[in-house]
Amino acid sequence: AATIDWAAVRADFPLLQRKVHGKPLVYFDSANTSQKPATVIEAVDDFYRRHNANVSRAVHQLGSEATEAYEGARGRLARFINARPDDLVLTSGTTFAINLVAYSWALPRLKAGDAILLTRMEHHANIVPWQLVAERTGARIDVVDLLPDGSLDIDMLHAKMTGAVKLLAVGHVSNVLGTVNPVADICREARRRGITTVVDGSQALPHRPVDVAAIGCDFYALTGHKMCAPTGTGALWARREHLEAMPPFIGGGEMIKEVRLDGGTVFNDPPRKFEAGTPNIAGFVGMGAAVDYLSALDMHNVEAREQELLAHLVEEFAKIEGLRIFGTAPGKAAVVSFAIEGVHSHDLATLLDLEGMAVRSGQHCAHPLLQWLGVSATCRASLAFYNTHDEIEAFIAALRKVRTLLA
Ligand code: PMP
Repeated sequence: AATIDWAAVRADFPLLQRKVHGKPLVYFDSANTSQKPATVIEAVDDFYRRHNANVSRAVHQLGSEATEAYEGARGRLARFINARPDDLVLTSGTTFAINLVAYSWALPRLKAGDAILLTRMEHHANIVPWQLVAERTGARIDVVDLLPDGSLDIDMLHAKMTGAVKLLAVGHVSNVLGTVNPVADICREARRRGITTVVDGSQALPHRPVDVAAIGCDFYALTGHKMCAPTGTGALWARREHLEAMPPFIGGGEMIKEVRLDGGTVFNDPPRKFEAGTPNIAGFVGMGAAVDYLSALDMHNVEAREQELLAHLVEEFAKIEGLRIFGTAPGKAAVVSFAIEGVHSHDLATLLDLEGMAVRSGQHCAHPLLQWLGVSATCRASLAFYNTHDEIEAFIAALRKVRTLLA
């Protein structure tokens, strides 16, 4: 791997310089949302200062600049995941992307007797849309459980891929356990059985190289705000045949070719058929800058850096008596959920905050997973490439101090 000056990379993130409660900020909540490099912030600022106009409508100069910037972001994001720009529907995030599959693909197709297969580690965004579809179609939901280390029970998965299963929804990387699921193998097995696959890539794209063609899924959902881009950006990648066949989910301007009140409305070609209304143009300009930023670092380097930080954190955690880590699957991502015996996670996170340390506590939008873990809440330290070994040392020191206060 190339040698990267990680201190200089960190300095690209203005917010990381600030103090919280008088202490230097240690931001270990990147799985919740990432911080943004100056180039992304400046791209958004520059768009509003110099290029702001609506897209795909006006013939004037600003209109074409805005359209070029917006479509440029689509192109960069497509290249980033090895896809064609026209197969990428730009959305407000993963939640919208998965709901688009639920309402446009699943709702018209599923019926009583069909099954939707999920895993125990899904985020609510990859559970609730399927429950809504199940309720309306009469399809049932089946769930694949986990092994004790937090990896997916692949034998159970294969056993549950019966003829009734029409759709499999699986996360690429768990936002609680850090487990990286073997999505290419899973999608190959599903495809062999005629099962359509939806992969939730929210926690994968910010941390590792992703190639949707190599994964071989039918749908891949992603969100921008966890990968250095502004909030309210994301995308659904889909196989062309699905985009052609799916009816639109939201109607409005720009998603049509011709509108007739006598019922002859003609929809636009995909992906525009699914992009009604004025999109988050400035946000996607920022998304384009975020993709440029991550591409320049190279996701292989990002992954290696985060694995190194993870190893350090886990090594230090092992020395803390009574600390339990949830999720120890081999090759896991740098997301570490933990609890300390006799200490409430929320109290822990609150006292850590007073030390300038940002971690998330609670159920992490994954109630079924927390039920399986048998705990009402965990603390979660989630790392990114812009974190440092010094921050890990400071975090461990703060954790020891806070724990003494709570014990
Ligand atoms: N799936 C996973 C695994 C996530 O971690 C998140 C964000 N917490 C989502 C889906 C939802 O993403 P968004 O809120 O950006 O739509």
